[in-house]
Amino acid sequence: MSVKIENPLIDSFRQIVESSKKSIIVSHVNPDGDAIGSCLALRGVLNNMGREAHVVIPNETPEFLQWLDGLDSVIDYEKNPAIADDYFKNADTLFCLDFNDFERSEGMKELLAAFGGKRVLIDHHPGPVAQCDVLISFTAVSSTCELLFKVIEEAGLSKYIDKSCADAIFVGMMTDTGNFSYNASDPETYHIIAKLLEIGIDKDLIHSNVYHTFSEDRWRLIGHSLKDKMIILPEFRTGYISLSKRELEQFHYQPGDTEGLVNYPLSVKGIVFCVLFLEKDDHVKMSFRSKGSFSTNDFSRKYFNGGGHINASGGSTKLSMDEAIKFFESLLPQYRNELMDCFPG
Ligand code: 5GP
Ligand code: MN
Repeated sequence: MSVKIENPLIDSFRQIVESSKKSIIVSHVNPDGDAIGSCLALRGVLNNMGREAHVVIPNETPEFLQWLDGLDSVIDYEKNPAIADDYFKNADTLFCLDFNDFERSEGMKELLAAFGGKRVLIDHHPGPVAQCDVLISFTAVSSTCELLFKVIEEAGLSKYIDKSCADAIFVGMMTDTGNFSYNASDPETYHIIAKLLEIGIDKDLIHSNVYHTFSEDRWRLIGHSLKDKMIILPEFRTGYISLSKRELEQFHYQPGDTEGLVNYPLSVKGIVFCVLFLEKDDHVKMSFRSKGSFSTNDFSRKYFNGGGHINASGGSTKLSMDEAIKFFESLLPQYRNELMDCFPG
């Protein structure tokens, strides 16, 4: 079922875009394909309209997105805070894409909260709390890139979507749906893909650029994770993988190397809930995925200071890896019935 974006929202978006001279586009920490794709696409549209616009991201962009046109001029706030601070001082508009809370921009959150110009949020995560003048938040849309396309189109600005913008939008749509394997049943998604193809994207090449550029180390890490680290708990229809810092170092871990790894237990017959535990310097980062009605968003929010979507969310804990896993396993019995009933099979 397609979402309807109310006309006043579209009008506000168009007015802000048309009156903005210099804008900043930001997204969440550890940016994924949807975060980077939406930022690059909006910057492209603004630039094509003759507006100055800059993309600032809280930290590094993963390797599998490096081929995207214009990525080299994205500012990594961790590496170049001075350049970003300067943009923030002089900009009149701030676009927040693919996140719902300034906290998700980590080191940049004070900058976002203190920004004196207009703020526009375009996002698909539930429960937006970011203070913005225009809030375009639709959880039923599977990616921010898809939502952004609709907003731009309905604002009458689709003539500014060139091939680079279309490539970036497709990347977000593809990666946020696991290559159209989940949250991808809305016909509107495919109408938009048809329009992106007409603009000139090479869908097969984009797929190859994103999914077929693994290093040997990355594949070996996946092999190790599946052979030695994947735990399946059929009685709770749950699976998980945990990787220590030492294991990540052993496989020369690069940002992006564990992208998608969380999903593997879900392809074991009967499994409907899975977790990836990654040991970081001072915390354990967790990714959650599920099938059907089991809300990983509620689960990660309740126990692991996290959030996200129903079927895909993340969180973290200060517990050690062993303690985190023990705690996680101790929570499962109370969810047994929910896990049994959330998805057929
Ligand atoms: P991933 O597991 O791929 O890192 O994230 C899956 C989804 O959960 C994304 O939509 C991401 O924005 C969200 N997410 C990941 N980690 C966190 C977190 O620590 N807090 C919140 N609120 N959301 C998160
Ligand atoms: Mn997204």
